[in-house]
Amino acid sequence: MVLPKFSPLRAIGSLLYPPVCAICSANVATGEYLCRDCETKIPRITAPFCAKCSEPFDGAITTVFECANCAHRELYFDAAVSAVRSRGIVRRIILDFKYGKHMHLRHLVVRWLVAALDDHRLSGRPFDLIVPVPLHPARQRERGFNQAALLAESLSARMSIPVRPALARTRYTTTQTAFDRVERMENLHGAFRLRKNADVRQLHVLLIDDVLTTGSTLSECARVLKKAGAATVHAATAARA
Ligand SMILES: [Zn+2]
Ligand SMILES: [Zn+2]
Repeated sequence: MVLPKFSPLRAIGSLLYPPVCAICSANVATGEYLCRDCETKIPRITAPFCAKCSEPFDGAITTVFECANCAHRELYFDAAVSAVRSRGIVRRIILDFKYGKHMHLRHLVVRWLVAALDDHRLSGRPFDLIVPVPLHPARQRERGFNQAALLAESLSARMSIPVRPALARTRYTTTQTAFDRVERMENLHGAFRLRKNADVRQLHVLLIDDVLTTGSTLSECARVLKKAGAATVHAATAARA
């Protein structure tokens, strides 16, 4: 059950359990998940960053540029945008949400996703459809939910853009961390397919995942969507490595 922000039930809930910071347990205002101190420690991504994958760089680059990683491979999404880095507090919150089943933390994780949508590469774009990166059914059973789908649903409610699970994961890929970038892309090739009855022809798609690590997953999903006729595929993630 999703309670509206101000409801008698929520008010009673917060009397029974006064809200505390998800990191340090300091008291916080109702509706907040982090105290001010922890909030300031969030590693935000600020310019300059790669126009394609949002990898941030030090220094004073004022022109639009692509990083060496993006320049040397074919990426099928138009841009992948994240507002924060998956480090420190952010990494911990996302892991707690994903593996610790602290479902209420999705509200905080969604805020980072919303912040990504403020980026000029995404804001004002007429997206027709939100598509979450799918999990393999076996993994979804094991975890109990697909974190990308939950985030996509929250975002859909805020933005009034429909969410549709247009993709399915057909291969239970082994854990990605042991692979280098090239092996990773090969490992993912053919791992996704368009679902039966999903029609993305001529549509502007916003692809959603929790974390961008190398961009290979988002790229492979974008490849399948574009092959199926999607006009554009932009990606937003709550955080990036
Ligand atoms: Zn705190
Ligand atoms: Zn890049």
